[in-house]
Amino acid sequence: MKNKTILVTGGGGFLGSHLCERLLEEGNDVICVDNFYTGSKRNIRHLLDNPKFELIRHDVTFPLYLEVDEIYNLACPASPIHYQRDPVQTVKTCVHGAINMLGLAKRLGAKVLQASTSEVYGDPDIHPQVEEYWGNVNPVGLRSCYDEGKRCAETLFHAYRLQCNLPIKIVRIFNTYGPRMHPNDGRVVSNFILQALQDEDITIYGSGDQTRSFCYRDDLIEAMIRMMATPDGVTGPVNIGNPTEFTILELAELVIELTGSRSKIVRLPLPSDDPKQRRPDASKARKLLDWQATTPLREGLARTIDYFDRLLKEDPEFCRS
Ligand code: NAD
Ligand code: UDP
Ligand code: UDP
Repeated sequence: MKNKTILVTGGGGFLGSHLCERLLEEGNDVICVDNFYTGSKRNIRHLLDNPKFELIRHDVTFPLYLEVDEIYNLACPASPIHYQRDPVQTVKTCVHGAINMLGLAKRLGAKVLQASTSEVYGDPDIHPQVEEYWGNVNPVGLRSCYDEGKRCAETLFHAYRLQCNLPIKIVRIFNTYGPRMHPNDGRVVSNFILQALQDEDITIYGSGDQTRSFCYRDDLIEAMIRMMATPDGVTGPVNIGNPTEFTILELAELVIELTGSRSKIVRLPLPSDDPKQRRPDASKARKLLDWQATTPLREGLARTIDYFDRLLKEDPEFCRS
């Protein structure tokens, strides 16, 4: 089969950079588009010499004219402190970004995949979350720029499918972690690991009884690629995540154990609208993609700890940036 030219928006970020790498390994030409709002050239600099890789600095809220076969739309700040820093820009990235990528896909007849999120379920009162659940989202809360932006993007994808018969795919990604998470994006896995490696206090927000289900990045990337390869009739949304659920306190204890840290656990206030529990019902992914997450938290954390341990030694400045 002919190799494809594939556009990855947000390709300079944590997940996008791994996706670019994986698509290149499969022999494709990859165009990475990023405005480096939260991403970093550091994540992709090892790809810059590859003749099949091209980097375009561009903000997806503006139109983009390229010739590609497939589009993965990942551009969007993903961690609460980043997406809340400029909520208007977050909504624009979700909504105008989706419109532009859908317009591009429509002109080309290209397949387009949206990186949606478990946040579309808000603070869910159905557990575990199934794709049919419509969610419990505060439209005017601190998280709404992201949650409602991502919900609107799903609506746009669906509308282009209905109106223009566009081959669309939507994956709802649950908390994913691994090497190349931004050290300062405030997400729980990177925070706890960096705190533990430096024997600083581990900051648990609230009681620590709230739960999350953590998926290792390689499992996630595999699922995204499988989703893109499904027949046109398969649009999703499909939950992608690891269904093994942990409390935040259990995560803190595991990180302390794996790092051999002397850190103490401290409690800080819980941010508003923080979801109490989250776990994917991953049965649709199993059926449609023949996929399930296989990396246990302990194993994925050990690899992520190695990464941050090296990063702290090689580039302490970046860890503080
Ligand atoms: P990230 O912040 O590392 O990556 C996002 C990338 O998008 C960054 O490189 C950033 O610079 C770029 N970007 C932001 N706004 C842009 C714009 N207007 N134009 C061009 N580029 C822009 O985050 P990530 O964890 O890699 O997340 C990637 C995608 O997956 C996001 O869409 C996110 O919503 C989604 N997602 C991630 C998770 C997770 O746990 N990591 C969970 C659910 C959904
Ligand atoms: N667009 C783009 N690249 C393209 C084609 C379209 O960025 O190759 C953008 C353009 O800004 C347009 C949007 O996608 O406004 C939506 O395109 P569509 O064709 O759906 O709508 P229209 O052009 O009528 O606004
Ligand atoms: N959290 C925490 N300490 C931290 C960072 C986060 O206790 O230093 C909590 C946060 O309140 C939430 C959970 O960990 O309940 C996951 O937070 P994250 O920002 O990683 O992801 P999200 O809330 O978007 O799932």
